[in-house]
Amino acid sequence: MSRARIDLHTHTTASDGTTPPEVLVREAAEAGLDAIALTDHDTVAGWDRAADALPPGLSLVRGAEISCARNGISLHLLAYLFDPTSTPLMDRMTELRESRVRRAEQMVRMLVADGVPVSWEQVRELADGTVGRPHVAQALVESGVVSSVAEAFTPEWIGSHGRYWGHRLEIDVVEMIGLVRDAGGVTVFAHPGAAARGRVVGDAVIADMAAAGLAGLEVDHPDHPPETRARLRGLAAQHSLLVTGASDFHGRNKTVRLGEHLTSSDVFEELLSGASGSVVL
Ligand code: AMP
Ligand code: ZN
Ligand code: FE
Ligand code: FE
Repeated sequence: MSRARIDLHTHTTASDGTTPPEVLVREAAEAGLDAIALTDHDTVAGWDRAADALPPGLSLVRGAEISCARNGISLHLLAYLFDPTSTPLMDRMTELRESRVRRAEQMVRMLVADGVPVSWEQVRELADGTVGRPHVAQALVESGVVSSVAEAFTPEWIGSHGRYWGHRLEIDVVEMIGLVRDAGGVTVFAHPGAAARGRVVGDAVIADMAAAGLAGLEVDHPDHPPETRARLRGLAAQHSLLVTGASDFHGRNKTVRLGEHLTSSDVFEELLSGASGSVVL
């Protein structure tokens, strides 16, 4: 696997991607990938569908992207190969999904109150699994209110702390790193420098996360400009963290292609050698 193509961050219809899990694995094989990680938001709902459809020659790392925060700043934690029957971890993910439903309902209520032609039924229909802002954004596109999902992610609409944005539950990231480790999984800080989405945590938080057992930083990500990647590589070296890369594929909800950013085989092996909750398929 010395020149393997490995993409460790993808979304499906189990959360806010537009590709069903069984289609994702087929498209990954067609794109010439050797391994992908399935990392839907706050859920393992897509695991079995992806596993059952796994084409020969493609390895599947089962994971999730978990909604966390530190010091009031939102951040995303990629968790890989944890045990999906770990009750403390699964209970927290259930709470996160329930909070997402309440929050999406709240955003729709605020839109409806201002006469924007969207409805909760419409959003429910668009969300097959974990509900997220991209589903509300799709409803806004469907109703002709905005012309693209990206346009909905602005301060006038549902961009971070925007006019119709609503808060939802987030778990303290140090607690979550512990829960994932206790469930035999390993963690990587997703897009740590994605500043265009909102505030990002400072270096001290990365130090706290490293001390709590974080395994890596996702450096090569579509939302990171070159200077951010260079800075993050330095931080990773300082804290002995692995450096990963991934597309954060969301199907038609984003323009990035599967495999547009990759993780090296050496990092892949080292990262996964620390996990014992699930196996790579
Ligand atoms: P939520 O988790 O419900 O708060 O929604 C955040 C999701 O929206 C993340 O998965 C992002 O990938 C996605 N997202 C954030 N900004 C944008 C954008 N500008 N265009 C499309 N999707 C976005
Ligand atoms: Zn997403
Ligand atoms: Fe994310
Ligand atoms: Fe993501």
